[in-house]
Amino acid sequence: MIHEATADHLTSGEQEERQISRLLNGLSVMAALFLAGIGTKAWYAEHPVHAWVLWLFIVPVVFNMIWYAWKRDRAVQKAGLLITVGLLFAYLLASGGEGNTGPLWFYVFPPLLFYLTSLKGGTAILLFCYLLAVIVFQFPGLPLVTAEYSTDFKIRFFATLTFESIFCFVLEAGRLRARGRLLALAKTHERAARTDELTGLANRREMQNRLNTEFSRFKRAGHHFSVVLIDLDLFKRINDGYGHDAGDAVLRQFADLTHTVVRQSDLAARWGGEEFLLLLPDTSLLQALSLAERLRAEVASTEFQHQGKILPVTISAGVCSISKAGSVNELLKQADIQLYNAKDAGRNRIAPRVRSQDSPEATETRT
Ligand code: GH3
Ligand code: MG
Ligand code: MG
Repeated sequence: MIHEATADHLTSGEQEERQISRLLNGLSVMAALFLAGIGTKAWYAEHPVHAWVLWLFIVPVVFNMIWYAWKRDRAVQKAGLLITVGLLFAYLLASGGEGNTGPLWFYVFPPLLFYLTSLKGGTAILLFCYLLAVIVFQFPGLPLVTAEYSTDFKIRFFATLTFESIFCFVLEAGRLRARGRLLALAKTHERAARTDELTGLANRREMQNRLNTEFSRFKRAGHHFSVVLIDLDLFKRINDGYGHDAGDAVLRQFADLTHTVVRQSDLAARWGGEEFLLLLPDTSLLQALSLAERLRAEVASTEFQHQGKILPVTISAGVCSISKAGSVNELLKQADIQLYNAKDAGRNRIAPRVRSQDSPEATETRT
C-alpha cells in the first residue's frame, strides 16, 4: 500500500511561494528606489507636493517588507504590496504625475496583478481599477483629481491597457494550465517510481527508503519496528503448470489480500519476483509473528483462481524485529534466514516458531 506523497508536492508549492516572496522583496526594493529617485527628480523640477507624495509611498513599501521579514505571512505581503501599488497608481492617475505621464505606470499593474492573485481575483481587481480610471477620466473635477487628459490620450490609454490585460490574462491562463499538467505528470511519475507495476504495491526502492526512515526513527526515538519477508511456495510449479499469466494473477491476488491484513501505517512491498516484504512500524516480534500467521492462514484458506482453475497457493515467511538486529541489512538478513528455516521446515509456515507460553494471540495489542 502506498500513501500519496503529498509532502513532495507541498514542498514544490512551498518552493514556488518562496520564489514569489523573494521576487516581491526584490520588486519592493526596486519600487522604493524608484520612488526615491523620481520623487527627487520631481523635487528639483519644482513639484514639491508630488515629490513628497512619492517619498511618502516609500513608507508602506518598506513597512510591508519589514512586516514580512518579521511575520513571514505571504498573504499579507502580497495584499500589502498590491494595495500600496494600487493606491500609488490611483494617485498617479488622478494627479497625472509629472507632465501627465503618471498613467503610464498603470501598464505595470496587469501582469503583477495576475501573477500575485488568481485569474478570477485579478480580473475582478482589474475591472475595479478600470472603473476607477473611467471615473477619473470622465470627471476631472472630482476632489483629488487634478489631471486632465486629452480625448486622444484617453482612448489610446484604454485601448492599449485593454490589449495588455487580455494578453496577460491569456498568458497567465496558459501558464497555469501548463503548470497544472506538469504537476499532474510529476505526480504520476513519482507514483510510478515508487510502485510495482504488476501488483500496485510499493516497489523495492520505496521499501528501502521507508526502512531507512524507520531505522532512523528507531535510532532517534527508540520506536521499534518489525519486518515480514514472504515468499510464495513452489511458485515455479504454478508458472509451469498453469502458465505465466496464472502466476501473475496469483501475485496480484496475493497483493490484494495483504491489504486486508496490514494497517494504514504499515507498508507492503513487492521485494522481487514472488517475494514480498511487510514493514510494520511500532510492532514487536510477537505482534509481527501474529500478523504473519494471520496472513498465512488467510492465504491458505483463500481460493486463488485463474481462468476457472483453482491454484494451490501457500506462503512461507521469516519475521524479524529491529531489536534483534543492529542495522537494516542485518534485519533483512535475519528475516531471510528465518524464511529459509520456514521453507526448510516444510513451507506454508512462519519462522521463528513461537513457544506456546508466549503465544502471539495472547499479546496481540499493536498500537
Ligand atoms: P520455493 O517454495 O522454494 O520458494 O519455490 P519456488 O518455486 O517459489 O522458488 P523459485 O525461486 O525456484 O521460483 C520462483 C519463481 O517465480 C521463478 C520465477 O519464474 C517466478 N517469478 C518471478 N517473478 C515472476 C512474475 O512476475 N510473474 C510470474 N508469473 N512468475 C514470476
Ligand atoms: Mg523466491
Ligand atoms: Mg517461492
